Amino acid sequence: MLINQKGFKLINTNNHTSINKELIHKFSYELLRENVFCPLGFDNENVTIILYDNENYVLKKVQSTLNCEKINIIKEKKNTILRCIDEYYQLDLKKFQNISVNDFLEKLIFHSLSQNTSDIHFCPEKEVLKIKYRIDGVLYVKFTIEKEFWKNLCVRIKIISNIDISETRKSQDGSFVHKCAFRDENFRVATHPTIFGENIVIRRVGDAKTINFDFVQYSNHNHYNVKKYEKLPYGLVLFTGPTGSGKSTSLYSMINALNDESKNIMTLEDPVECVIPGIVQSDIREYPKMNFNLGLRSILRQDPDVILIGEIRDSDTVDMTIRASMTGHKVFSTLHTHDILSSVDRLKELSNHRVLLEQYLKGVISQRLIRCLCNWCKKQRKTSEIEKKLLNCDVVYDCIGCEKCSYTGFFGRVIIAESLLIDDENKELIFSKVPKINKLHQLKEKGFTDIYEDAFQKVRSGITNLQEIKRHIEIGD
Ligand SMILES: [Zn+2]
Repeated sequence: MLINQKGFKLINTNNHTSINKELIHKFSYELLRENVFCPLGFDNENVTIILYDNENYVLKKVQSTLNCEKINIIKEKKNTILRCIDEYYQLDLKKFQNISVNDFLEKLIFHSLSQNTSDIHFCPEKEVLKIKYRIDGVLYVKFTIEKEFWKNLCVRIKIISNIDISETRKSQDGSFVHKCAFRDENFRVATHPTIFGENIVIRRVGDAKTINFDFVQYSNHNHYNVKKYEKLPYGLVLFTGPTGSGKSTSLYSMINALNDESKNIMTLEDPVECVIPGIVQSDIREYPKMNFNLGLRSILRQDPDVILIGEIRDSDTVDMTIRASMTGHKVFSTLHTHDILSSVDRLKELSNHRVLLEQYLKGVISQRLIRCLCNWCKKQRKTSEIEKKLLNCDVVYDCIGCEKCSYTGFFGRVIIAESLLIDDENKELIFSKVPKINKLHQLKEKGFTDIYEDAFQKVRSGITNLQEIKRHIEIGD
């Protein structure tokens, strides 16, 4: 939502009809971005523009270009204006002196890497193609281009990814390697048919060597517990959280920490996101009629030491993981739940052997992946009364936006988490029928730090802000 200062209607930047597309194209893309302004539309004889600063120059420019006398100004944040331009300005690629699709794709991938992008989305709409980047978990529209360009570009992406170009009505998978100056970057490609043509998502595949617990950056108390999980002789350990909470990254970090030639480490994944040398990895999607439960039965006949199961989804898989733990294996898996105590409840519901579950479930960690404030532009300010009450501190940091963070105000991500080692001391309480709130209270008395405290600590130390935390965990106002 744009801020209304001069009595104009509030304009929702997600609403395509709110910006006059003819008007925006009276100015060059470069001029708009360089001077950070964007015309919105006409209100009777007046033109309304959003701008950041450089008022005199921009007003003169608008006046001479549109030949109008009255201009209404709405001051807006730099990053909001830049995003508006990217979203509504339809780039005319013919202007780039017959740029070939190959060159365009090459430049686009290079550009996306420079912006720390994890996925590039190509989304055809009725009249245009939108190219979006996912940066630190959030999707931004980066370019809007003519639809006619998509046909050739789409074919080019499919060719380099080894995808059948004649098939446009089925979803397909592929991959390619992009040669960069210092190293090769691996990308996975997925197509999906839509009513406006094929949608394509290119995902950058992480480098296995860089995924470890230093990269994941748990807080000290969680790091301590994770190191304990690593040293357990046998038992089941779960990484839990919603989609996009960094569970796979944590699992891969665990595998990397345990990886040496003396152990047989086997995985069952859906899909294999990262290839780690020295590990026996299987993708259950590759085999018809395979699921985690059947795959696990097969793995147990392969003399494994450590087993990683992509996700626990059903009773059979819970029972098989417990059986594997009973026979002296370390088993790591993930569960789609929101906190530690609900994970335990979910497992109790799924398991047919509760006594064994109590005996072999050794640890649970519940986590979210949150964005860090950009260190180059974050700004300190005094806390409001409400914030002070919640956080018990005097200063917090605000998100601003600069060149370094592509005007998002954020740079990189970090995990907030709560973790528990389940031992003889707390086992009875955790599996008891005591109400959740009382359980939590008793655990905290014994030194347990919940995810809220971990998150607030990260706000207090300026790593992130409350707004970002609220995107991931519920905080009452
Ligand atoms: Zn910044």
